[in-house]
Amino acid sequence: MIEIKNKKDCCGCCMCAGACPKECIKMLTDDEGFVYPHIDDSACVNCHLCEKVCPVINVRDDRNSFQQQGYIVQHRNPEVLRESTAGGAFTAIAEYVIDHGGVIFGVELQTDLYAKPSAAHHIWVDNKADLKKFRNSKYIQSFVGEGTPKQVKSFLEQGKYVCFSGTPCQVEGIKQYLDAKKVDQTNLILVDVVCRAVPSPLIFRKYLEHQEKKNSEHITSVRFRDKHYGYKYSTMNVISDRNNGDYHRGVESDPWLRAFFSNICDRPSCHDCKFRKLHRVSDFTIWDCFHVGRFSKELDNDRGATRMLVHSLKGQQILDAVSEELVEFKVPVQIIVDGAKELNESVAPNEQRETFFIDANTLNGYDLLEKYFPETAKVKLKRMIRMTALNIGIYSVAKKVFVRLTGKY
Ligand SMILES: Cc1cc2nc3c(=O)[nH]c(=O)nc-3n(C[C@H](O)[C@H](O)[C@H](O)COP(=O)(O)OP(=O)(O)OC[C@H]3O[C@@H](n4cnc5c(N)ncnc54)[C@H](O)[C@@H]3O)c2cc1C
Ligand code: SF4
Ligand code: SF4
Ligand code: SF4
Repeated sequence: MIEIKNKKDCCGCCMCAGACPKECIKMLTDDEGFVYPHIDDSACVNCHLCEKVCPVINVRDDRNSFQQQGYIVQHRNPEVLRESTAGGAFTAIAEYVIDHGGVIFGVELQTDLYAKPSAAHHIWVDNKADLKKFRNSKYIQSFVGEGTPKQVKSFLEQGKYVCFSGTPCQVEGIKQYLDAKKVDQTNLILVDVVCRAVPSPLIFRKYLEHQEKKNSEHITSVRFRDKHYGYKYSTMNVISDRNNGDYHRGVESDPWLRAFFSNICDRPSCHDCKFRKLHRVSDFTIWDCFHVGRFSKELDNDRGATRMLVHSLKGQQILDAVSEELVEFKVPVQIIVDGAKELNESVAPNEQRETFFIDANTLNGYDLLEKYFPETAKVKLKRMIRMTALNIGIYSVAKKVFVRLTGKY
């Protein structure tokens, strides 16, 4: 049976809990807010299925005979583009599957933002209107749940098309689960994102507490990557009962984005991620393209573009079929992956990570985030510089110069 000796060795994908024939594995939350499997030894029959489905134990090499292809794409529908994180590639793939009577598994943000184990969870939908729920990255670990792999299996056994999207570990997990259960995967389409890391759902609840206390408001929803100021200055958008959705702060000043990008509250497995690689089990890998101007003037409109790797013939056929929905450019693989560090390299944990989580268990959200991410004069200055550049219409140019000088996007 599965035994987690080091937390780095579990990405929390829930596949073991879904696979166990005795249903004796429960996913329980630790004091950092991440889920791990807990086994009722008395019910275990030592069938080893939990080990067989675990993507961390069974690291795969999924090179196949298909010659990988690289694309940069942008959805033609302005509403889809506005709501998506980058260029809306995911929606185009998902719409194809729905047109063929299929179902889509993706990540929704719950109405109850304080929901446990996480405000983000995997659900499935079977109509285009509901795809809206999946658009926009939720920068928080999604709870897959033990029911999700069973549902994927059931739909495939009914002969339906199934598109499953998620982080690379979740996608490898579902593949491992379906292989172990010997399910025919002809109708399965897998989409993974390039994944920096997933932050703790506990710390997200602390962020909500911080915002609510600081601004005396009740938060009703958030968008982690809003394009209010354009794609190149994506912001956290907080919607409350008092602000008409008028909170837009970027990585320099929003406490959640600052916490995420300082690697202070990521899942331990993300710092030694086994799923960072060029060749993947998925049909598509999608991620941001901030420097789209290098490849296409047509797409350089600050509305967002997705970089995409197609890993299979099935993926290529789907992309060809949806090409009318997308403006797309083919780019050699070696060029498209240039600068995509998160594709291959794990981020190092912040050296304050341990004390941060100790404090998180004793301080309320307001005190915690004021301690680690206060709005200092330097933070205010950085925000002022960005806002001034935006207001006088030189943000894009200034960002290009910044990228050229620092090599950072
Ligand atoms: C946790 C996380 C970390 C990421 N890190 C990077 C990065 O370091 N560099 C980079 O270039 N891109 C990263 N991305 C990918 C990027 O944010 C966009 O998802 C990608 O560019 C696709 O955009 P899109 O407009 O085509 O699709 P969108 O319409 O934005 O589609 C979003 C897709 O992501 C899925 N999704 C949303 N939230 C989660 C979640 N919490 N867990 C699993 N799946 C989720 C949805 O189900 C949907 O399939 C990350 C995404 C996530 C979720
Ligand atoms: S060995 Fe089998 S019965 Fe025991 S926990 Fe794992 S899957 Fe369940
Ligand atoms: S299957 Fe997933 S949840 Fe279970 S031990 Fe492996 S990584 Fe962790
Ligand atoms: S960084 Fe790796 S381990 Fe962490 S969520 Fe992403 S794919 Fe999973």
